[in-house]
Amino acid sequence: MDMRKLWIALFLIAIIFAGCSPAATNESLPRAANTPSNDKQMKPQAVPGQDKHKDISRTPDLRDGPEDQIRKPHPMTLSDLQAKYKSTFLLSGSSDKREIALTFDDAPDDHFTPQVLDILKKEGVRATFFVVGNRVQAHPDIVRRMVKEGHVIGNHSWSHPNLPKLRDADFRNEILKTDRQILSIAGYLPTFVRPPYGNISENQILWLASQHKVVVNWNIDSLDWKGLDAEEVKTNVLAHLQPGAIILQHSAGGKGQDLSGTVKALPDIIKAIRDDGVKLVTIPELLDMPNGK
Ligand SMILES: [Zn+2]
Repeated sequence: MDMRKLWIALFLIAIIFAGCSPAATNESLPRAANTPSNDKQMKPQAVPGQDKHKDISRTPDLRDGPEDQIRKPHPMTLSDLQAKYKSTFLLSGSSDKREIALTFDDAPDDHFTPQVLDILKKEGVRATFFVVGNRVQAHPDIVRRMVKEGHVIGNHSWSHPNLPKLRDADFRNEILKTDRQILSIAGYLPTFVRPPYGNISENQILWLASQHKVVVNWNIDSLDWKGLDAEEVKTNVLAHLQPGAIILQHSAGGKGQDLSGTVKALPDIIKAIRDDGVKLVTIPELLDMPNGK
């Protein structure tokens, strides 16, 4: 008997003794031939239709299941979402026009917001305010003033929650309730929504798109919410100026938040942008879209 026949004979004997199912032979035969003592451990795995990895009984399972089950529904990052929904989720306008938009979040309050409005009025600048619904309810006169002075109102939710954590019904309610509050004062349902903390999920973007809304974040963050002084706020904004930019500032904050740096920096920021030959516009002007309906 030549060597080749000898090996085939040994191979066939090993199959018979291993008692493997046809499905299980595919991957593990060489090992079964080399280690006949595996026989007992493998038998429980040799049932057709069960996992084809025969030594799985010795391998602790992955606690939250196979990789593909967990990875598939993994939420997309904000930059993934922005890339995927270019016309619904914007961070800036076109860089073709020498225009920049100032935006102020978390308004209105009755302390910092009036100071910001005073400066904008004095400088003849119109901006976009992303207002919190329950604050609009608390200070309707300040929102009336915004509208009267030509500013644009956007929706920043009713109570400023982290939207991706909400159930669908709660998320929609945050948007719709704020819409109604804005409509009652500004006279239009706002086109633009800025999610609190800039956070939003893919499903929420899709629902807003179905409501003909546009999600607007920013590409220049003043970081004024950190309570920075005027010089720091100015540096954060002016160091990143570019045509089409959307600048994020706040004209109200959480309890105890000091935005005096924002107020103090604002005249210098406006001057520096204008000195660059750049026009300050509202979000609907920057994006060539209506402010509401
Ligand atoms: Zn906010």
